[in-house]
Amino acid sequence: MKTTETKKENTASKQKVAAKSSAADGLRELFIDSLKDIYWAEKALTKALPKMAKNATSQNLIDAINDHLTVTHEQVSRLEEVFTIFGEKATAKKCDAMEGLIKEGEGILEETEPGAVRDAGIIAASQKIEHYEIATYGTLAAFAKTLGEDDAVNLLLQTLEEEKEADVTLTEAAYNTINFDAAGEEAAE
Ligand code: FE
Ligand code: FE
Ligand code: ZN
Ligand code: FE
Repeated sequence: MKTTETKKENTASKQKVAAKSSAADGLRELFIDSLKDIYWAEKALTKALPKMAKNATSQNLIDAINDHLTVTHEQVSRLEEVFTIFGEKATAKKCDAMEGLIKEGEGILEETEPGAVRDAGIIAASQKIEHYEIATYGTLAAFAKTLGEDDAVNLLLQTLEEEKEADVTLTEAAYNTINFDAAGEEAAE
């Protein structure tokens, strides 16, 4: 027992990474890198959302997607403001995660007939996207706070709230109409 515990401790100490003396600079670089990543992601969404809206049937869902498209354009501009605060040029760096989430959404379109079932699929894919964004902006706001850039924190928290609102709107759309109709279609078959 004692030997096992000692072994565990040894493994744990080997996995622990020592902090660099330049830890603050490191966080700034990590922040800027994440900013480039989400800048790419938001721009990709301005292209992906119209396709989602075109493939949706419920007017409620179409409106929700189009509203969020308008908001997404504002989020792109807001990110450009954050780059400016940090004295950096706004640059996009491919976000592998968002590329994958968008691909998954497009896959759902191919796998479903237009109507309530496809709408349910669009909502599911969109909520995965919103949750990714919520996680990203939560982290970015925390980093900016640590870095002492309060104006950037406020901008990032504003976007975080919009992503949360979009998530709630999608949940309501799913509960109120779409998932119910999708289940109905299945029962009618
Ligand atoms: Fe967004
Ligand atoms: Fe990312
Ligand atoms: Zn990424
Ligand atoms: Fe969003």
